Amino acid sequence: MKIICIGRNYIEHARELRNDIPKEPVFFIKPDTALLIRNRPFYYPDFTNDLHYECEIVYRICKAGKHIGPKFARSYYDAIALGIDFTARDLQQLAKEKGLPWEKAKAFDFSAPVSSFIDIAEFPDLNNLVFSLSLNDEVVQEGNSKDMIFNIDTIISYVSQFITLRTGDYIFTGTPAGVGPVKIGDRLEAFLEGEKMMWCEIK
Ligand code: MG
Repeated sequence: MKIICIGRNYIEHARELRNDIPKEPVFFIKPDTALLIRNRPFYYPDFTNDLHYECEIVYRICKAGKHIGPKFARSYYDAIALGIDFTARDLQQLAKEKGLPWEKAKAFDFSAPVSSFIDIAEFPDLNNLVFSLSLNDEVVQEGNSKDMIFNIDTIISYVSQFITLRTGDYIFTGTPAGVGPVKIGDRLEAFLEGEKMMWCEIK
């Protein structure tokens, strides 16, 4: 499986990193070795000194497809989770300055903690999902899927023009404002519609 991640999908987050508001989705990929599940701890890697959390809504793909039209996208995902797109911000900044790819900053081992999934039928309106992230019991990110620049159907349609989606792929849909660093000893907890979905200890 692969993990497709959308960048700069919330206006306030694009602004906080001084990026332009995108006119089409920005995406990148994390390999399956990036997955971290079952609330396992995350071990701070020694190649970064500025590891950031980015809490995101994650969709699970349930059917293979390519060139999917936006109005057909809804049948290609069946469940939602929360995830953290861990980012080595110092390496990403260097890559941006040099116009180089982001993989070292984004796709490293265990850089994608993901909660268990919930059937989308449990949610009456996918375009109005409230989620948040707390760091050591203090809320640091609050988002609502209605504020996404590109919603999940648009993302699926766009990405599938270039890359075949397969059953079991995940799509990280971008993070709202409030990203910041973690340090060893920190504890992250993510909530969807008020329910705790996952936690992650930094070791
Ligand atoms: Mg992200």
